Amino acid sequence: MAKNTGARTKTTAVKARKSRKPIPKGEGRKVKTGSSQTAMPRSKTGAAAKAKSKTASKPWSAAEVYEAFARFRAANPEPKGELEHLNAYTLLVAVVLSAQATDVGVNKATRHLFPIADTPQKMIALGEEKVREYIKTIGLYRTKAKNVIALSEQLIAQHGGKVPRDRAALEALPGVGRKTANVVLNIAFGEPTIAVDTHLFRVGNRTGLAPGKTPLEVELNLLEVVPDEFMRHAHHWLILHGRYTCVARRPLCEKCIINDLCRWPEKTVFLAAS
Ligand code: SF4
Repeated sequence: MAKNTGARTKTTAVKARKSRKPIPKGEGRKVKTGSSQTAMPRSKTGAAAKAKSKTASKPWSAAEVYEAFARFRAANPEPKGELEHLNAYTLLVAVVLSAQATDVGVNKATRHLFPIADTPQKMIALGEEKVREYIKTIGLYRTKAKNVIALSEQLIAQHGGKVPRDRAALEALPGVGRKTANVVLNIAFGEPTIAVDTHLFRVGNRTGLAPGKTPLEVELNLLEVVPDEFMRHAHHWLILHGRYTCVARRPLCEKCIINDLCRWPEKTVFLAAS
């Protein structure tokens, strides 16, 4: 097992906590804890269940966290997001459009939209009605089209048409919340942020790596336990793990590269990573 050479020191973690911005109203909302969201363990009875629940509650050691991310890195050294974009602005728009929609669905629409509107100015020139036409296959498209135009106007009025590298300024844009700001800061600017969506929320809780009742709790726990050297890509590794391996209904534990580290009492076959 790899040594814990990259784990954050307590001081670093405390500094990170102190530097965090106040939590916006509504961001700490609880996420439904049904099986499709968190896939938390189903109730079990008897001694076996008691033994398993003991295992499930044991926190990960720093060495185990390091080992898990070292394996993610070895398997996929340069993970990429799946939302197609041309620049920071189109990334921002794509993330706004992806709320309660799939990346595949968003990409289908933006493949036609972005070549003709890759700046706030061009998007405004296109107009809300035409934007609506381009994105009408995406859920909540009317509200999203309105937000895309409004955020483009705000970018021009307040930021010279550029996407700001600043959490507060991003979250002040129409349709942009903490998760969207985290994605943009991470992908467009390389900031060590972690956006917690439904996949990260499930993985954080199910594995026991960063348990939390809300996405914000999971995010803050991840920021505290993920070693600095893995922060840049942690978001992508975890989202891809949740999307393709640790899926909601029947996780592919037999293929999982962190199976031996995972605390989920219902994980299936263990295959030692080689
Ligand atoms: S073993 Fe892997 S796939 Fe299975 S629950 Fe744990 S993290 Fe998810």
